[in-house]
Amino acid sequence: MADSFDVIVIGGGPAGYPAAIRAGQNKLSVACIDEWKNLDGSYAFGGTCLNAGCIPSKALLESSELFHRAGHEFKAHGIGLASLQMDVAAMQKRKATIVKGMTGGIAQLLKSNGVTALQGHGRLLAGNQVEFTAADGSRKALTARFVVLASGSVPMPLKTAAFDGTQIVDSWGALEFDAVPGRLGVIGAGVIGLELGSVWARLGAKVTVLEAMDAFLPMADRQLAGEALKQFTKQGLDVRLGAKVSAAATSAKGVMVQYTDAKGEQQAEFDKLVVAIGRKPFTANLLGEGTGVVVDERGFIQVDGQCRTAAANVFAVGDCVRGPMLAHKAKEEGVMVADLIAGLYGHTNYDVIPAVIYTAPEMAWVGKTEEQAKAAGISVKTGVFPFIASGRARAMEAPAGFAKIVADATTDQVLGVHIIGPMAGELIGEAVLALEYSASCEDLQRTIHAHPTLSEAVHEAALAADKRAIDMLNR
Ligand code: FAD
Ligand code: NAD
Repeated sequence: MADSFDVIVIGGGPAGYPAAIRAGQNKLSVACIDEWKNLDGSYAFGGTCLNAGCIPSKALLESSELFHRAGHEFKAHGIGLASLQMDVAAMQKRKATIVKGMTGGIAQLLKSNGVTALQGHGRLLAGNQVEFTAADGSRKALTARFVVLASGSVPMPLKTAAFDGTQIVDSWGALEFDAVPGRLGVIGAGVIGLELGSVWARLGAKVTVLEAMDAFLPMADRQLAGEALKQFTKQGLDVRLGAKVSAAATSAKGVMVQYTDAKGEQQAEFDKLVVAIGRKPFTANLLGEGTGVVVDERGFIQVDGQCRTAAANVFAVGDCVRGPMLAHKAKEEGVMVADLIAGLYGHTNYDVIPAVIYTAPEMAWVGKTEEQAKAAGISVKTGVFPFIASGRARAMEAPAGFAKIVADATTDQVLGVHIIGPMAGELIGEAVLALEYSASCEDLQRTIHAHPTLSEAVHEAALAADKRAIDMLNR
């Protein structure tokens, strides 16, 4: 193995592996170091996203959604099932097979792009030296012209409900349950709380979500958040807002959680408790003495708009730096820095990063909420199209939710799109492109959308912004 590279990437998650691949495509010599170890002790590329995040959670969301629909929706289609059972072991095996296939694919992609893949720990030392520690403890000093730090994030612990790995677990633990917990408590009504809460609720768990904030999904458009809370409550998810957890005690009977809310002291007992109150950047043993890289008080590596750290020729990307902790943001930054290193154009548009929550109904948005646009002093017009008026959504037995356009009433420019409903995560792609291209409502209105498709909801919402919707009573 060479000990000198153009680029060394530390971290092989959605930020690191695309950086390494693009550097390879740019004909640079590159090594990617990753230390992720699975529960069986095996190394795997792909980071949190592929091993314990995006991919396994979506696999379980799909299985549990099918189970739920079979039990609740098939009858409406005239499909009768004599009995319906959930084989949790088979569901988990399917998930593990998907994860293995995907992470194995990353190793192949690295290889085919000429990347030297190193499994073990990487540590940046002063002067662009990188110390690599292999599984057997042996150390090797490597040098690089450029170093990319992509060390990711880990779950935030909660002092009053410390993880024990069995009864009080993090998101990874909640992806690995081998049976449906009868009573599942979730602390945090964020993305993980809602997605994993939905998985186990659909399979039969009684799910209670304890959220410290008084507002539900405060980062989302208020109309969308209101509709989401209504739908989740209808599904039986018990979301308790303004709940501050003061203690959690485990026993053979379960986990007794003490919390206070507007009504005063409360308690609730669960079989399992998932703590999902956010994630924090991970930089443990990443930086040696005198590297010049600055870490802020919250643990994020400080970077500029192009992910340059304070140290010359050292970049940092993904969850370990500011911005939303999302795989697609991480990937974009990784690709950007690999292009910048090669002297090419590189850019990440932080104003146009879509967010998707893969519940049912699904939620997705991009750009400004109505409230943000108004707070920025913009004269706003909105258009909302409910899926109940969409022929395709009705045929899919998925009439809940809506598509909403937020636009500048003066210039007609689309400022934000907010969708709650079937396939919202796929529909948002058109909105992302519209915002990237600074599209107007008229651009969307004059774009032909196939019939009958869910995407017509976005078209009709754009028309509704000018009170010209065709398939809906105009308000
Ligand atoms: P990571 O994926 O955390 O990867 C960092 C890698 O670096 C890890 O493999 C780590 O072991 C390695 N590493 C760290 N330090 C060192 C070192 N010193 N030496 C060697 N290796 C090191 N995002 C979405 O966009 N969509 C989703 O649907 C989604 N679902 C999620 C579901 C769950 C349950 C969770 C927990 C997260 C989800 N996310 C989702 C968030 C997403 O996983 C992260 O934003 C993404 O993984 C960040 O990528 P990253 O490369 O920055 O970090
Ligand atoms: P989050 O920030 O989405 O939600 C955390 C929630 O916990 C918030 O609502 C917060 O108010 C609440 N909270 C914080 N402290 C609390 C306390 N002490 N008691 C009760 N509630 C408390 O974080 P997450 O759900 O843990 O997810 C972590 C990251 O992973 C997010 O940044 C998210 O972007 C990413 N992720 C993304 C997806 C996706 O894109 N679909 C899926 C899962 C995770």
